[in-house]
Amino acid sequence: MAISTVSPPFEGTMELTIKNPRTGELLYTLPEAAEAAIGQAFTKARAAARSIASLSVPQRLEECRKLKRYISLHKEDIVQRIVDETGKPRTEAILTEIYPALDLIHHYEKTAPKVLRDEKHPTPLVLMGKTSKVYYEPMGTVLIISPWNYPFNLSFTPIITALIAGNAVVFKPSEHTPLKGLLEDIFEKSGFLKDVVQVVYGGKEVGSRCIDQQPDKIFFTGSEAAGKAIMAHAANYLIPVELELGGKDPMVVFDDVNINRCVNGAVWGGMTNAGQTCTSVERILVQQSIYPKFIEELKREIAELTTPANCGSFDDKNIDIGCMTAEFQIRKVEAQIQDAIEKGATVHCGGQREPGSHVFPPTLITGIDPSMKIYADETFGPVVTVMPFKDEAEAVRLANDSPYGLSASVWSGDLVRADRVARAIVTGNVSINNVLATQGNSSLPFGGVKQSGMGRYKGAHGLYSFSNIKSILVDRNSGRYEPIWYPYTKEKYGLISRLVDASFLGGLAGLIQVALVGLKLERLEKKRHL
Ligand code: NAD
Repeated sequence: MAISTVSPPFEGTMELTIKNPRTGELLYTLPEAAEAAIGQAFTKARAAARSIASLSVPQRLEECRKLKRYISLHKEDIVQRIVDETGKPRTEAILTEIYPALDLIHHYEKTAPKVLRDEKHPTPLVLMGKTSKVYYEPMGTVLIISPWNYPFNLSFTPIITALIAGNAVVFKPSEHTPLKGLLEDIFEKSGFLKDVVQVVYGGKEVGSRCIDQQPDKIFFTGSEAAGKAIMAHAANYLIPVELELGGKDPMVVFDDVNINRCVNGAVWGGMTNAGQTCTSVERILVQQSIYPKFIEELKREIAELTTPANCGSFDDKNIDIGCMTAEFQIRKVEAQIQDAIEKGATVHCGGQREPGSHVFPPTLITGIDPSMKIYADETFGPVVTVMPFKDEAEAVRLANDSPYGLSASVWSGDLVRADRVARAIVTGNVSINNVLATQGNSSLPFGGVKQSGMGRYKGAHGLYSFSNIKSILVDRNSGRYEPIWYPYTKEKYGLISRLVDASFLGGLAGLIQVALVGLKLERLEKKRHL
């Protein structure tokens, strides 16, 4: 039985105030969902869970195709909503929010029917005459809680995965970028199966109250601290959780690379989405012999980036870096940089926001050490640090010197070495001679290790993680009694002991022994039932 919580009813105390981070203009306000509304959302989703579960996988995909069509038709409007609430450039909104959502549906159209179909499994000789299968069934109603940095991609992609696996969804977006009404519009106006996705708005208290509704699974993307709180809360009810948390990604650069291309990748990997990406490049580790040249190139490349400070028009599609989304996050980044400066680090460029704005210029820091917060803490802003290394062993040691293990990149002309280093880094994803590239392939599972979380989504693993994986063993109604059932006797013990030895002998001799002992056990059983 689940342990019930004793929290008093929640009336939704907060009003969400959503402003455009670039202009400060008020976009809208939104009351937080109260307990009754949260309860209603779960009631509706649970009722609708039956309708989606009863559809075949191709029928669920047909529903998702409606979403794909609707999003493609309205992509410019959706991009505008995302840009308004996050402050990111249009190019990033379309490339990293819209494209992955459409691509995931496209990928599952080709793969999901096969991934989720009933599977026949081998049955060992000792279970002769029986058949074994696995069914992938929906879990029921899943709760998806999302962060603010990719408010469309990081909500829509887990929602789609959960739906294709046959679940209903209650979704709680971030209180900072809720994209009020957008998902509801997409689902309703595209003609998607009614009520299967419910959205509840609010802050962490609303998220917490959703957990008290005891969903069948929680898929959480966000900070390490919230992930731990959610896992502890879910433990009360033994709800399975998947945690997609923060990162401090290393980029390991050996001296046999094309420095220009590598620097280009480092700058994009560190600055895309103004560095507010869980898998952004944060720690660039460069082999000593090319370190001075690498730093020079990095400074040159960063100086060429267009930001709202040097570009003028923010909506310009030529802009490289937008502004940061949340004031609290800017303060965290500023505090980390201040701490690093006080402890002796060198800031080569950037380091401070443009006064009175959310514009944070791209920042390059060297001379860091483990005493500084910036060494190990996630830096959720357009900031990269660079450290030299001597050889492969030191590169691996530095890359692994982190509480996080979300993603990494390894750069080398020697692909054998790059592969060796990719294997040695304790992480969930590695791109070789590229950055953030594993996420570009919807077939590859995504997730982290260490403090970056647990579980995988996307690809086949994503569908499995939203499924109840049910094992079936069929014994035809043969009338045969099982020789291993009661009663246990001395004679039976002797035969079972021989069966254990024979089972792992291997080869033809092993097979013959298993068959012979099996026959003897059956004969023994038959005698008893004569
Ligand atoms: P956050 O943890 O503060 O909030 C994320 C969501 O969780 C929000 O919707 C919030 O309301 C909710 N929440 C917070 N505490 C809760 C609680 N106790 N119970 C229920 N819900 C709760 O994170 P954020 O600031 O929105 O996002 C930034 C973080 O997300 C960064 O650490 C970043 O690395 C991480 N992130 C990870 C991935 C990934 O895929 N691994 C992707 C994007 C962002």
